[in-house]
Amino acid sequence: MERDIYDEDHEAFRDLVREFCRRHATNAARERWDAAGEVDRATMLAAGEAGVIGLSVPEEFGGAGMLQDFRFRAVVNEEVIAAGAGSLAGAFGIQDDLAVPYLVHMGTQAQKEKWLPRMATGEVLGALGMTEPGAGSDLRGIATTAKKVDGGYLVNGAKTFISSGATADIVVTFVKTGEGNRPDAFSLVLVESGMAGFDHGKKLDKVGFHGHDTAELSFSDVFVPDENLIGGEEGLGFVQLMMNLPLERLSIGVAAAASAQAALDWTLAYTRDREAFGERVIDFQHSRFALADVATTVDALWAYIDRALLAYRDGRLTAEEAAKIKFWATEREWEVLDTCVQLHGGYGYITEYPIARAFADARVHRIYGGTNEIMREIVGRRLAGKR
Ligand SMILES: Cc1cc2nc3c(=O)[nH]c(=O)nc-3n(C[C@H](O)[C@H](O)[C@H](O)COP(=O)(O)OP(=O)(O)OC[C@H]3O[C@@H](n4cnc5c(N)ncnc54)[C@H](O)[C@@H]3O)c2cc1C
Repeated sequence: MERDIYDEDHEAFRDLVREFCRRHATNAARERWDAAGEVDRATMLAAGEAGVIGLSVPEEFGGAGMLQDFRFRAVVNEEVIAAGAGSLAGAFGIQDDLAVPYLVHMGTQAQKEKWLPRMATGEVLGALGMTEPGAGSDLRGIATTAKKVDGGYLVNGAKTFISSGATADIVVTFVKTGEGNRPDAFSLVLVESGMAGFDHGKKLDKVGFHGHDTAELSFSDVFVPDENLIGGEEGLGFVQLMMNLPLERLSIGVAAAASAQAALDWTLAYTRDREAFGERVIDFQHSRFALADVATTVDALWAYIDRALLAYRDGRLTAEEAAKIKFWATEREWEVLDTCVQLHGGYGYITEYPIARAFADARVHRIYGGTNEIMREIVGRRLAGKR
């Protein structure tokens, strides 16, 4: 089904992203990131230079000022994922959809001036630290504390599974500044790389996204100055997280649709070329039926995602709608990827093939950004009339 949500500006931007991918999202680069377990800084700086990241940074701070028009970020996801560079798409997503928005929407003027210009260029990379060894879905169960001291806070605790955690220069960190687990007991503070007592810990060895770092972080009496309290006011952290989670979930939905689209395209090319029993694989009726299912699912994914992109632009995407998109899109993605791996036969399991890497990458889409069970809980509670 033809998509009609992009205009000339988006298509011109697509050409720019394609050119960036042709130069930087090469097989050699991907192998380098996979071996290092992280996207190198040179690539992130090149992305900043090309204007492929920093899309959500307002123009006055050197960015593209596209925070509300997520279609540009969708174009980046489509092109980078189609280039077989899932880890790069992940690194871009953390910067633009998880880290930057906290400063743009909730940062003080001084915080914006200090960090955003260099986040737009890739000189400063951000991460979001919510999850802890003992608390993931149940975020109000975190144990990391920020105790008020003269001029700032002393942060103690640990975070885990933090995307870009090893490479980040600043981590938007979810901490307890009050007693109990009422929403106003939490705050967000910016912990900077190099602060005494802050350790980036070790990179975790994952099933997929081998070229994008995921790390454990630890904080031992880390002094964080008052100026690094996001929004400049204590007790807003939980509400701040809730404000940005719909964007994070839309971002995962877009990545899921882009990955399903790429899988379809790779599989059409493969099955048109590969022969068995003297026929092309696509000529077997079973293959055609499977591909018909996949192509229809991909159409439906875009129809849903495109509507959500417009709703987000117009400020109408609710938390429930973002939750629906996140779980539904990532589950369709998983089915599509599984079918497409099967149609590749043994090659579908070999990581030299993008379909195999995309399959491994896709699995975590159902887990992070809030598990799909939690997404159903959000939607179901609303249906039951509960908040
Ligand atoms: C590769 C990767 C990258 C990540 N990146 C980040 C990041 O950048 N920043 C960050 O803060 N976190 C990140 N995470 C963490 C991720 O968001 C959490 O893993 C996720 O939210 C689940 O938390 P948990 O692992 O503690 O699982 P748990 O909360 O322990 O859940 C275990 C199981 O119980 C289910 N469950 C829990 N509560 C309920 C309930 N009420 N009803 C029904 N089922 C329930 C869950 O759905 C799940 O199936 C990342 C994780 C991974 C794997």
